[in-house]
Amino acid sequence: MAVKYKLKKDDEVVVITGKDKGKKGKILRVDRKKGKVIVENVHVVKRHMKPNPLNPDGGIIEKEMPIDISNVMFYCKKCDKGVRLGYKILDDGKKQRFCKSCGEVVDKD
Ligand SMILES: [Zn+2]
Repeated sequence: MAVKYKLKKDDEVVVITGKDKGKKGKILRVDRKKGKVIVENVHVVKRHMKPNPLNPDGGIIEKEMPIDISNVMFYCKKCDKGVRLGYKILDDGKKQRFCKSCGEVVDKD
């Protein structure tokens, strides 16, 4: 059975395990096939770059690497913690996500 991921790009999440535990950031990318996410400022790896036309001096760049989607939870500002999300189906058939802890709707269109 395919896992349904409730998280999407631009969600704020908190890391719940690993060396970045407790860090918060915005999801930059979701890779649903691999079950990975890239989160702003989380799992940042430094890379030495050789000089190239875009960066003639070379040097060190920092880049976020993917982490397992199960290592993060949606960060609810109201609860001030990582929470599980549920889905509500609206009258017009649209799905809206809400925080299962406080009931706050997190998708605002
Ligand atoms: Zn909440």
